[in-house]
Amino acid sequence: MSDGRALAREYLEQQRLLGGDPVVLPDGPTVLTPGASPGFTNNPSGSEVSDSPITPGSRPGSVEIADLPPLGISYDPPTGDLFTADPISKTVSLADIAALVAGCTKCRLCESRTHTVPGEGPDDARLVVVGEGPGQVEDETGRPFVGRAGELLTKILAAIQLPREQVFICNVVKCRPPENRQPQYDEIASCLPYLHRQIEILKPKVILAMGNTAAQSLLNAKQSLGSMRNHVHRFRGIPVIVTYHPAALLRNPNWKRPTWDDVRIARRLLDD
Ligand code: SF4
Repeated sequence: MSDGRALAREYLEQQRLLGGDPVVLPDGPTVLTPGASPGFTNNPSGSEVSDSPITPGSRPGSVEIADLPPLGISYDPPTGDLFTADPISKTVSLADIAALVAGCTKCRLCESRTHTVPGEGPDDARLVVVGEGPGQVEDETGRPFVGRAGELLTKILAAIQLPREQVFICNVVKCRPPENRQPQYDEIASCLPYLHRQIEILKPKVILAMGNTAAQSLLNAKQSLGSMRNHVHRFRGIPVIVTYHPAALLRNPNWKRPTWDDVRIARRLLDD
């Protein structure tokens, strides 16, 4: 049998990276039985807390989920027309798209931006993370997810053994909405072709949509985030997992646990 304590430690370290409470393992060997939750304490007085199952044989980064969630929304927006004059459909690289975004004035968000934030990550990224839009630090730096929410995203990715540098990270809108308000419908509609083309070029294995705006925009859906979680959706055939935005997790730490469940599903899809 595998060393249950080592597995529990690995799991707890992942929870700590996600911002969970400190946990003290009791002394002595811990025996895990298949399907059983590890017993551990979250305070020195030793009160027992059960958590999600860790089954013997788990490997780092793997996900032990009996079944993937059921299929959800499938969205297949039209691809660009070869004979159109639209420059987005003529781009062949992420750098081409970033160059177009840098000069874009298709919506009012161009008026107040400091920098455009097209997204960043390698051309061969297998996971694409999509958020809502740039915040203040992103607007100042031109980089996505670099504030406190970005630091949390980096930890979330590390917890599923994915260095941030291996992931393409971007937003639905590429310019900061003033006062961090939600992007409006027409702004999203103007900017979405850039995201669609980025995904077309990257051809990732999995997309992680973080937050309502990302999920609804990508899947052309009106459902709440809660109703879209726990399903494997599809965007042009690519699996899409919906979860909370890291900024929402900073406001409500209770959502860290369901987010952890969601990213483990994404990890499993990457591993399949
Ligand atoms: S938000 Fe998108 S569509 Fe609007 S100006 Fe910026 S890049 Fe262009």
